[in-house]
Amino acid sequence: MKIVSNPQQLQEISTRLRKDQLTIGFVPTMGYLHEGHRALLKEAREQNEIVIMSIFVNPLQFGPNEDLESYPRDFERDKQVAIEEEVDYLFHPTVEEMYPEQMSVTVKVGRRTNCLCGRSRPGHFDGVATVLTKLFHLVQPTNVYFGKKDAQQVAVVDGLIQDFHFPINLVDVNTVREEDGLAKSSRNIRLTPTERQEAGILYKSLSLARAELIKGQDNLELLKKQVMDLIERESSGKVDYFEILTYPRLEMVKELTGEIIIATAVQFGKARLIDNIIFELENTPR
Ligand code: AMP
Repeated sequence: MKIVSNPQQLQEISTRLRKDQLTIGFVPTMGYLHEGHRALLKEAREQNEIVIMSIFVNPLQFGPNEDLESYPRDFERDKQVAIEEEVDYLFHPTVEEMYPEQMSVTVKVGRRTNCLCGRSRPGHFDGVATVLTKLFHLVQPTNVYFGKKDAQQVAVVDGLIQDFHFPINLVDVNTVREEDGLAKSSRNIRLTPTERQEAGILYKSLSLARAELIKGQDNLELLKKQVMDLIERESSGKVDYFEILTYPRLEMVKELTGEIIIATAVQFGKARLIDNIIFELENTPR
């Protein structure tokens, strides 16, 4: 495995690989790798001749009061994981290498962001789309891999690829979970043992809401309130949002049919956790 930190050097490498007609699978991450990242890497390894992973904690996507400084990092361990998953190139630039000076042009996301994390974290998806535009030009991937755990990110990247005509195929990968259903996340490390026990409530509440919808519950406001009350009654978590929307457009549900996403964000002490379930509702008579 080759470690590259210089953006121009990476672009030269990928230009050469593409000239040689090799397929490139790209897995962008912020590091502190876990089983969720490994699932993306495994899929990329199976489907491409070359696998490139980036590890970069992108300052542009963190708000002023967010956890940029304290975001967990362990490059030595990540390097080991990358070797185990047979990554060919590990791109690990410094902030100065990625942003030598303030950008004169950035990407602004205009749709799919006025809800969920886009509403709670203003500017977050602009930062994501900007860094991904840079990374796509540097890596020139054939396929790019994202986790459904960050479903709104998948929806935004889908828009970015379509609107800017990136010749890239987007692959979304199922969420990898702990035994109690908690989605694996680099931020889970911040949970106290008690909070870790309680955090299973995210998946439990999403599953419960899905079961209610399938049973025919059509009062979404009531359902959302009941589930939010349940989360706050059974845990110390504070609900940031609990939403039921269409997917991937992330619009208000008018008819209970088609692809639906139920998504939640809950703050536990020092960790803000997110999770979602995406499923198809059949148009059954109620
Ligand atoms: P991050 O390092 O948190 O930016 O995540 C990098 C990629 O891994 C993103 O596409 C995430 O959606 C994905 N990812 C994170 N956690 C999981 C998980 N539990 N299961 C599947 N993919 C995940």
